[in-house]
Amino acid sequence: MQLLWEHCKKELEGKIDRHNYNSYIKPTKQLQYSNNKLSILVPSTYLADWLEKHYLTMIRSIINHQTAAENKITFVVDSAGHKEAHTPAPAQAKKKAAKAKSDASQLKSQHSFETFVVGKCNEFAYASALACAKKPGAKYNPLFLYGGVGLGKTHLMQSIGRYILDKNKGANVLYLSSEYFVNQMISAMQKGQMDRFRKKYRNLDALLVDDIQFIAGKDRSQEEFFHTFNTLFEMGKQIIVSSDQFPKDIKRLEERLKSRFQWGLIADILPPSFETKIAIINKKAELNGYMMPLEVAEYLAQTIKSNIRELEGCMARIIAYASLSGRSVNLQLAQETMDGVYSEAIKHVDVAMIQKVITSYFDLKRYDLKSKSRARKVVVPRQIAMYLCREYTDESLPRIGELFGDRDHSTVIHSHKKIKRELEVNTKLYNDFKAVTKILEL
Ligand code: ADP
Ligand code: MG
Repeated sequence: MQLLWEHCKKELEGKIDRHNYNSYIKPTKQLQYSNNKLSILVPSTYLADWLEKHYLTMIRSIINHQTAAENKITFVVDSAGHKEAHTPAPAQAKKKAAKAKSDASQLKSQHSFETFVVGKCNEFAYASALACAKKPGAKYNPLFLYGGVGLGKTHLMQSIGRYILDKNKGANVLYLSSEYFVNQMISAMQKGQMDRFRKKYRNLDALLVDDIQFIAGKDRSQEEFFHTFNTLFEMGKQIIVSSDQFPKDIKRLEERLKSRFQWGLIADILPPSFETKIAIINKKAELNGYMMPLEVAEYLAQTIKSNIRELEGCMARIIAYASLSGRSVNLQLAQETMDGVYSEAIKHVDVAMIQKVITSYFDLKRYDLKSKSRARKVVVPRQIAMYLCREYTDESLPRIGELFGDRDHSTVIHSHKKIKRELEVNTKLYNDFKAVTKILEL
């Protein structure tokens, strides 16, 4: 009777919506059938609940019909497969060692190289991170990762930390945010324990400091970090730093730190393409034990411009909404979920739309915005366009620069600043700006 469930699946496939079938029925397997008891293996609790609520009656009637008997049906969650997907590999002992060595162990198990989806936008950062993880201190030191919010900097840094710890049991690896560094230092100062603090931070095999921009403007912390950096660097220990900006653009960051961050390798992470977003959605769904119908994945990838954290948030919301309302995950449900709560976060415009509207409003040629022309009638609209791109799209500064005739990202920053200032004092510009935003429905 091994095939009982397979027969039932075939029948269900003809009876129910294709997406529901693919999402809920397809990933299941027969576990056992004996004494009129059928156990079905499902990849997650969520799926088990859902099937029980929506399809149990239909399934029971098919099975009863096929076996000409009354049957009891149970869904069993495949906890083994589930766990494996969540925490790839590390043995318990290794995990314990890792915990002891990594301070408050801020390394999250789901952040590993295996769970990181590589696309064009991040392949360079990924390769650099992997190289550092394989040979800490040997190749790129320091490694500076930079990219917009929610693009995977923390995920990559933590993957490096985990990898080093998994490969070298005794490695002394510390991952922390720069804010944590500042707080630890203040507390050490207050308690008169600076020697201990220094010993801890200068005795590492790898130091990973996330979101370094928070240290800017804090003189004492920068000073301390500078010396920590030098000590570790001289000993050939790996240093990895991340930020949402390029080193030289971080305001109030000491020059000597800026210059050190540029000694090694700077790798940026750009916003993901549509295809990469789809791949990430599928990966996240797989890790959480469910399937996202393609139409929903496409809708999400189109709607959420770049922030992957936001993408994950939307996925979780959709799954929760479906589960609570007892409906299946489909496009309509996804749209309803997003309309209700996420409408503000949804960006309606992209760079191409902004350029098009600006060109037509200011009566320019299509090429003007990307040209080198310094004529005022071109410069101002170009600056307004860049301002809008920075404010209303999720594109990174370098990417916006690139889309305006390969300009440097500092030009985008400059334009943004200039327009921001002008909007407060220049009525003509303000009126033009308002008209353009109205056309764009911003
Ligand atoms: P950042 O530190 O750049 O703000 P995070 O590393 O915290 O971003 O990423 C936000 C979320 O998106 C995390 O849950 C992370 O796992 C996920 N994420 C980002 N990039 C990827 C990727 N390439 N593959 C899989 N998940 C990703
Ligand atoms: Mg982060």
